[in-house]
Amino acid sequence: AEAFDGLNQSLEKAWQKLKGESAINKENVKEPLRDIRRALLEADVSLPVVRRFVKRVEEKAIGTDVTVGLKPDQQLVKVVSDELIGLMGTEASPLAERGFGTTVVLMAGLQGVGKTTMCGKLASYLQSQGKSVTMVACDVYRPAAVDQLQTLGERVGCPVFSLPDSKDPSDIAKQGVKAARDAKADYVIVDTAGRLAIDEDMMQELRDVRKAVKPDETLLVVDAMTGQEAARVVQSFDESVELTGAILTKLDGDSRGGAALSVYEVSGKPIKFVGVGEKLTDLEQFYPDRMAGRILG
Ligand code: GDP
Repeated sequence: AEAFDGLNQSLEKAWQKLKGESAINKENVKEPLRDIRRALLEADVSLPVVRRFVKRVEEKAIGTDVTVGLKPDQQLVKVVSDELIGLMGTEASPLAERGFGTTVVLMAGLQGVGKTTMCGKLASYLQSQGKSVTMVACDVYRPAAVDQLQTLGERVGCPVFSLPDSKDPSDIAKQGVKAARDAKADYVIVDTAGRLAIDEDMMQELRDVRKAVKPDETLLVVDAMTGQEAARVVQSFDESVELTGAILTKLDGDSRGGAALSVYEVSGKPIKFVGVGEKLTDLEQFYPDRMAGRILG
């Protein structure tokens, strides 16, 4: 089945109910709005987001003049499409790039979300754009995570900095970023430790690493399959450690779409990239309009 089939079909019901109407009014839009609300809740979009969304759609659908040439059902599709794009941040949010010197990208995330894989994907993506990359392994708790990054580095063909005897993530990060600068890398991707749950130690460690390397980007990697929970995780990390954006992984396994639709509205942080599979090339930049297009089918 195509991704977001459920959402797509449920939304379809909403427009159908306006077929044959001559205009959208307060009465005939009630049922379609109820369908939209239900569709978004089933997609696991968080309730406050759904409420605001439906309210905005109602105001726009009733309030504005019908666009020339659009029938009421088409008009509602257009309003919903515009609002979906706005919900996800309107414009794509490209990765920061320093005009001069090495751009520092800090990667954070809970264990198992696909953070380490994403470091490799990002390195591979940047290299395909002609940028040189160094990765830094800062997970002092799981040697396996360092090995995993090392292996990814070999596959991508980029150096991976680590200090196997150090137990100080900030120091590793600092030295790693210095090594990347010395090598005149365009980008350095710093992979931090993932934990099973959000805890204060993790947040403190991230704050320390941030202080040590002053990243241009602090990106939180979250799993799309966790739906609206992903948005809450972004929000809570951002309250502790200032983020510049989020990355959604496992979008290929997400049939509902709640994470993609909730992250920006809940946290105010843009989704910059999405992971769409296990291969290193399974990475896409996030475009709100394309995502809305996929949802609306
Ligand atoms: P980490 O603990 O956050 O570093 O997670 P890993 O990078 O080790 O990934 C955990 C698992 O998720 C691995 O089996 C990955 O192959 C898988 N994975 C990562 N990204 C994606 C994705 O975009 N799609 C799918 N289907 N699987 C992914």
